Formats: sequence, structure tokens, C-alpha cells
Amino acid sequence: MKQKILEMESYAQEKNVPIIEKKSIAFIMKYIKDNNIKSVLELGSAIGYSAILMASSREDVTVTTIERDEERYMECLKNVKACGLDKKINVVFQDAMEVNLSEDLKYDLIFIDAAKGQYKRFFEKYKYFLKENGTIITDNIKFHGYVGKSQKIESKNLKSLVEKIEDYIEFLKDNEEFDTLFYDIGDGLSVSKWKNEKK
Ligand code: SAH
Ligand code: MG
Repeated sequence: MKQKILEMESYAQEKNVPIIEKKSIAFIMKYIKDNNIKSVLELGSAIGYSAILMASSREDVTVTTIERDEERYMECLKNVKACGLDKKINVVFQDAMEVNLSEDLKYDLIFIDAAKGQYKRFFEKYKYFLKENGTIITDNIKFHGYVGKSQKIESKNLKSLVEKIEDYIEFLKDNEEFDTLFYDIGDGLSVSKWKNEKK
């Protein structure tokens, strides 16, 4: 398993797959242990790196992870099998905006790590699949240090993407349903929970 993780890290580097930073996944694994998390929904599997580490952070946790890119999905399936985690990880090959989960499925943790420009849409769609006491964690809210500096970015595509992440942060800060903490770990993480009023 350790060897497989190292292999996945080199594969990601070679093929330019944006897997989570070590400090960030360590934070999430600890969060899963400390908060009795038993079910995780991940948006954006890539090659399964974060899903595999989340699934191995507790004996009794299961992970459903969604990926829309076929090559990555196949690679993810292969890695999950190689780690012997196919009973704990369910990999779904679909666009997360098009997935129809059964309404009575609820998760302890939703990890948003798919298309950065769509974070708000993912949040609004998937909050209904979060348990009352559940948590939504989002990765890359610093986006390589660009977030907060969009005005100075010249490339149109990058600027628009960074602006969307900046909007997402404002959306979380002003949110009437969720309280969010922001962590300067790795590429930036946000941790959102339903406000106390919702019971
Ligand atoms: N969580 C992974 C990294 C994910 S990278 C890890 O840390 O190991 C982001 C992935 O999200 C990419 O593989 C991309 O193909 C996928 N993605 C982007 N938008 C998506 C969408 N709408 N639905 C499903 N997957 C998506
Ligand atoms: Mg990420």
C-alpha cells in the first residue's frame, strides 16, 4: 500500500494530475479519525489518491468518489483494486453535476475537489446529501496563491477561474446555512458545517 501510494505520487507528477498536497490529506485523514466519519462522498477522484488515503484512515469508513475523465477513472479503479480497497471505495464514472444520487443517501463528509470553477454549484447541489452533523471540505481554495489577486491576472481563463474561487469564498463567508473555517494548509482548505439552528 505504501509503495502504491508512492507510485501514484510519481504517476501524478509525470502525467500532471493535480493530486492533493500531503499536508492537506493528512489534515483530512485526521478529521475523519477524530470526527467519527463513516461515509465520504468525493467529487473529483482523479487517480484515486485522496480516496484511497481517506478510505484507509479508518477501518469503518466507506468512500464514494465521482470522476468524469475516462482515463483517470480507469486508473483510479486499477489503483483501488491494487490497494485491496474495492469493498470500501465505490468509483462512479460520471459528471458530478449529472449524477442523481438517491435522496436518502446522506454522507458524514463531502469532499469537493472537482472543477474549481463550479465549486458553488457543487456545494448547492450536494448539501442535500450531507447529514445534519456533516461537513463539507473543499480543496484548493488558495489556487496556487492566485486567490485574492485575480485583478492582477492577465490570462483571461485563469482570471475567470480565480474569480470563481474568490466568489465561492465570499459565498461561504456570507452563507446563512453553513459556518465555514478556512485553513492555510497545502493549497488551502475550507471546512463547512451546518449552522446550529439547523436541527
Ligand atoms: N481528489 C483527487 C484530485 C482530483 S483532481 C486527489 O486529490 O487525489 C480533479 C478531478 O476532478 C480531475 O480528475 C477532473 O477530471 C475531475 N472533475 C472535474 N470536474 C468534474 C465533474 N464535474 N465531475 C466529475 N469529475 C470532475
Ligand atoms: Mg485538489
